[in-house]
Amino acid sequence: MATKANNKRATKKKSTTKYIFVVGGVMSGVGKGVASSSIATLLESRGHNVTAMKIDPYINVDAGTMNPTEHGEVFVLKDGLETDQDMGNYERFLNKDLPAINYMTTGSVYQSVIRKERNLEYKGKNVEVVPDIPLEVIRRIKAAGENADADIVQVEVGGTVGEYQNVLFLEAIRMMKTEEPDNVAVVMVSYLPVPGSIGEMKTKPTQTAVRMLNSAGVFADMIVCRSKISVDQKRKEKIAKFCNVKVENVISAPDVDSIYDIPLHYEKDGLSEGLLKTLGLSTRKVADLKNWKRFVKSSKNEGDTVKIAVVGKYFNSGDFVLSDVYISILEAIKFSAYKLRLNPEIDYLSAEDFADKKNLRKLNQYDGVLVPGGFGTTGIEGKLNVIEYVRKKRIPYFGICYGMQLAVLEYAKNVAKIKNASTEEIDPKADHLVIGVMDEQKEKIAKGDMGGTMRLGQYEAKLKKGSVAAKAYKAQSIVERHRHRYEVNPEYINRLTDKGLVFSGTSPDGMLMEIAELPQEDHPFFVGVQFHPELQARPLDPHPLFTAFIKAAYESD
Ligand code: GLN
Repeated sequence: MATKANNKRATKKKSTTKYIFVVGGVMSGVGKGVASSSIATLLESRGHNVTAMKIDPYINVDAGTMNPTEHGEVFVLKDGLETDQDMGNYERFLNKDLPAINYMTTGSVYQSVIRKERNLEYKGKNVEVVPDIPLEVIRRIKAAGENADADIVQVEVGGTVGEYQNVLFLEAIRMMKTEEPDNVAVVMVSYLPVPGSIGEMKTKPTQTAVRMLNSAGVFADMIVCRSKISVDQKRKEKIAKFCNVKVENVISAPDVDSIYDIPLHYEKDGLSEGLLKTLGLSTRKVADLKNWKRFVKSSKNEGDTVKIAVVGKYFNSGDFVLSDVYISILEAIKFSAYKLRLNPEIDYLSAEDFADKKNLRKLNQYDGVLVPGGFGTTGIEGKLNVIEYVRKKRIPYFGICYGMQLAVLEYAKNVAKIKNASTEEIDPKADHLVIGVMDEQKEKIAKGDMGGTMRLGQYEAKLKKGSVAAKAYKAQSIVERHRHRYEVNPEYINRLTDKGLVFSGTSPDGMLMEIAELPQEDHPFFVGVQFHPELQARPLDPHPLFTAFIKAAYESD
C-alpha cells in the first residue's frame, strides 16, 4: 500500500549515501574511537540517519580470541560478533544497536576473499591484493550503509597513518573518493603535543602525518586536533595552510573531564557544519542535542557518592591499571548512578589480593561489589572469598557471567555444602561440577574450534514473577547479550534452590539458568546474571539491573 510514510521513504532512497572516514595521525591512544562516536552523534543530531563502522587492521578474524590486556574489552554485538570496544562507544553514543556487517578486520576481509576464490566467484580471474582486498572492503562498507538505510556511513580505520597494516584500507578510501568525490569526506584525528620544555603547541607532527596520508593518495577534509589544551586561531591557520584544509575544518579537541562532553565541544567549534558542507549536505537543521545535554548535566550532579568495587582480573599491566578491559561495565555503573542523581566512585580491585582473607575487610568501605566476566583460573580463589564475604555481610553484589557462575559455586560450596564442587573450566575432574560445559560446546572444544564459537549474542530469558530481577526490569521476558561456554549444571539446581538460591531467569525452555538471586528478605541485593547487561546500557537509556544494583548499594547500610 502506498502510504505517506512509504512514499517518503521511497523519495529518501534516492538521496545519495555519504561516507565519512576517520583516520588517525601521529599516534594511537588519543581517543579516535570517541572522536568518531562524537562525530556520528552530531550528524545524527542534525537529522541524518548515521551508521558507524570500525575497521581493525589485525589478522584476527574477530576480537574474541584476543587477551583483554592486549586489546581491551571484547564488545559483543546483538547478532553475536565479538568486536572492538569502539563498537560499544558507537552504540552508547548513537543509542542504537549495530550489526556484524559494521565491523571488519584484515583477517575477516581476507577470509571472505579467499572463500569467494574457492567458490569460483572470481570466475577464473587472477585474484590480487590490490584491488581485490580494497574492493571487498568497499563492498562491505556499502552493504552496511544499505543494511542501515543510512544517509551517512561513518568508518573508523584503526591504527595510525604510516603503519604498514592499514595501507589497504587507505587504498579503499582512495578508490571510493576517486569514484564519488562529492560523497566521501576524510577526517584525520591528530595529536598536537605541548612539550613541557617549550610550553608551546607544536603542529609539525600533524603536518608530517598529513603528508603520509597524502602519499597514500588520500587527502584530509578535516583535522580534529587532540591536545591537552585548545588550539588557538594562529595554529589553526598554520595547520590549514600546511595541511590543505579549510581553516574552519580545523577542529579543536582539548582534553575534557568526561568523554560525553566531547560532542558539545565539537559542535561549538563547528564540526558538524564543516562536515555537512564538505559533503554537500544542507546545514539548515540545527543540532538537536537536548537529551544529550540533559544527560551531560546529570553526570555533573552534586548528589551523594556511591562507592562501588569492581573485583576483576585484568587490571594490572606492568605499572599501569587497565580499566578499559571493563569499559562497558564502568560506563553502565555511571549511567545508572547519574540517573539516580548520584556520583559513582569506582575502584578496581585485583581479585588475586583476596586469596588472603585478611584483605576482605577492605570491602567494608564499599556500598556495592561487582564481579565481572572472566575466563580461567587466575583470581578465582579471591573472587570466591569476596562473594562469600559480601553474601554474609549483606553488601550488595552484582555478578556478571563468570561473576554469576562463581556466585552459584560459592553457594554450592558454603551453603549447600557440596564438597569438592567446582566449575569444569577450572577443574574438570572435580566430584561435583556445579558449573559445567554446555552440551553444544563439547564438540567445539574437542576439535579446538575456539574462535567465535561460544554462546554469543542475543537470547531471550523468562523472568520469575515477583523476583528482584523481574521487579528491576518491570518485565516477564528480556533479551540480553551473551558470551559463555559454561552454564549452571542442571543436575544441581534442586539442591541449590532447596537451600534458598532462586533462579529467577531461565531460557524460554527452562533449561539454562540465566539469573541467580537471593530473596530480598535475605539480602539487600545479591544477583548474578549469565549474560552481559553492560553491553546494552546507554547514556540515554541506563540498564534497569545496574540501576537496581546502584539503588540498593546506595540505600542499604
Ligand atoms: N568463563 C565463563 C564461560 O565461558 C564465563 C565467561 C564470561 O564471563 N564472559 O562460561
